[in-house]
Amino acid sequence: MSFTAPPSSRLKAASLPHLWLPYCQMKTAPYPAEAVSTKDSTITLSNSQKLIDGIASWWTACHGYNHPHLQAALIEQAQKMPHIMFGGMIHEPAARLSERLSQILPGDLNHVFFTDSGSVAMEVAAKIALQFHLNRGEKTRSKLLSFRGGYHGDTLMMMSICDPEEGMHSLFGQTLPKQVLADIPKTSADLKNLRMLLEKDSTQIAAMIIEPLVQGAGGMIFHDAEILKNLRNLCDEFGILLILDEVFTGFGRTGTMFAYEQANIVPDIIALSKALTGGTMPLAATIAREHVYQTFLSDNPNHALMHGPTFMANPLACAVANASLDLFEKEPRLQQVQHIEKQLLKELEPCRALPHVKDVRVKGAIGVVELDAIKDSARLNKAFIEKNVWIRPFRNIIYLTPAFTIKTDELSMLTSAIYDVLETNLL
Ligand SMILES: *Cc1c(COP(=O)(O)O)cnc(C)c1O
Repeated sequence: MSFTAPPSSRLKAASLPHLWLPYCQMKTAPYPAEAVSTKDSTITLSNSQKLIDGIASWWTACHGYNHPHLQAALIEQAQKMPHIMFGGMIHEPAARLSERLSQILPGDLNHVFFTDSGSVAMEVAAKIALQFHLNRGEKTRSKLLSFRGGYHGDTLMMMSICDPEEGMHSLFGQTLPKQVLADIPKTSADLKNLRMLLEKDSTQIAAMIIEPLVQGAGGMIFHDAEILKNLRNLCDEFGILLILDEVFTGFGRTGTMFAYEQANIVPDIIALSKALTGGTMPLAATIAREHVYQTFLSDNPNHALMHGPTFMANPLACAVANASLDLFEKEPRLQQVQHIEKQLLKELEPCRALPHVKDVRVKGAIGVVELDAIKDSARLNKAFIEKNVWIRPFRNIIYLTPAFTIKTDELSMLTSAIYDVLETNLL
């Protein structure tokens, strides 16, 4: 089959001879769109159609595509040293990036461990938390506490702390370790329940894990900063480490550089990935506070962190992450997020009056239209492509997480496409 031929609408993903697609029932899913190039907020397909991108490639491309500063950094590093092992050897792009990350993260989050994906950054965060207690001689704390609606990655340990539905606990229940699941304490009754749970079980629990302010893949569900303060206090009281998964929320998405700044707290461990390299290279970081790191310093070799992905701290990825941080310094990204927030609030609001719309909500550069249900998200995705926009509904939501550099008229194209598609009642 020619990959450049425009696929007929009857063609299915199953007719791809070798590719296995993510989160996809290959037998029934439609044949995917084929991207050939990108620029700013535009994706060009193999049939020359241009789409305005509402998702920024799974929330990564915060500066838009092909930013010249990021491309220059990549090319320069590619000519010098595309990769070098990180075992027993360091390099300037990683050293500089670790220093810059610890500088821009409020608090004493000073010790940076690089990996190559958000899931693995969270695995490392969990491993650090579990070993923190072991290194201090506290042997009972072997469980992780996470929250309903959470998503922390697709690896098996992360599946065990995702929302039971997202983590497919029913399918993999025999394999997944049993963890502790709680509701995000949005009311004082919830908070009391969580406290009771901790009073009973806290000596089993190594860490509490949450995506601050926005649960992303769980359905773009928001909660108040005040809740994070309560969680911080509970963790302190019960000797539990607080891990924040800012893989999605990090780097400006919620209006501040990191979501936790809005709660005036400091987590013990944080995980970053998605927008870390501005959407160009796979890279992730797990950053621990001073008091956590100190428990790994010992004359006992078993107290060391035994982890080291082959491609950790890849120099190309680190160089482009440094360039991405340059852009956050030089260009008004957080102001752009504010403008996007205002425009999303104004332009998505009319959707509230449409049939089947349950909620419209906006935080930073995240706009959500929640519906009663979506029966056929592939059909909606196709309707959006016909309107020259790339929007990929999931669960019961249609959402926008555009590049922070998106132009006003491009964002309006996205919001009016949502209104138009919902108005023609394609659900
Ligand atoms: C995407 C995501 C992950 C997983 O990151 P990958 O790079 O896909 O492994 C973990 N946590 C959150 C909050 C995410 O949004």
